[in-house]
Amino acid sequence: MKSKDTTKKSSNKENLEQKVIKLVKEDQEILRYIEEIDPDAMRIFEYLVKNGKVLESKIVSDLKYEKANYLRKILYKMYEKNIVGYKERKKGKILEYIWFANLNYLLEVMIKKVKEEIFKIEREIDLEKIDNYYRCPQCLRTYNESTALENNFLCIYCNIPLKYIDSKEIMNERERILEQLNKRQKELLEFKKKITF
Ligand SMILES: [Zn+2]
Repeated sequence: MKSKDTTKKSSNKENLEQKVIKLVKEDQEILRYIEEIDPDAMRIFEYLVKNGKVLESKIVSDLKYEKANYLRKILYKMYEKNIVGYKERKKGKILEYIWFANLNYLLEVMIKKVKEEIFKIEREIDLEKIDNYYRCPQCLRTYNESTALENNFLCIYCNIPLKYIDSKEIMNERERILEQLNKRQKELLEFKKKITF
């Protein structure tokens, strides 16, 4: 019974790690932020997400680096960009470094971005609810209600009658995006709660 519980717990943990990596990879901006450090940065990041807090010498051997300095240089660059963190440990006279992925920071950045997107799209939906839109069938310029009225529902440029746009489709699309964003936000917030370092 006991061993069964342990298996379940470790597979949940694995699942969580995979989901975090997936979320990071889905966010083009974050992905670029990590990848532009070094071609190896993503590999190191994934390794740290999966392995938690790891002694530098173990990373060197696990990821098969010939030069420890080379790895440290990348790790410092990642540290400067808040992607990883480290702790020092004294072993006799030697100072050892323990590295870990700074998931808290990355999740905060992703949550902030999703919140901004949600805010923006909710505003757009609100605006569309209170306004009607018209389009010129020739030049395809769009007018809101008051501008269209000012010009007697004629296009300023083409002088031909404007057509009323059925915004239902646009609205449905926006609602769908909003739903996805809300789902992503919920996921990110749940991860943040579960991640302990
Ligand atoms: Zn026109």
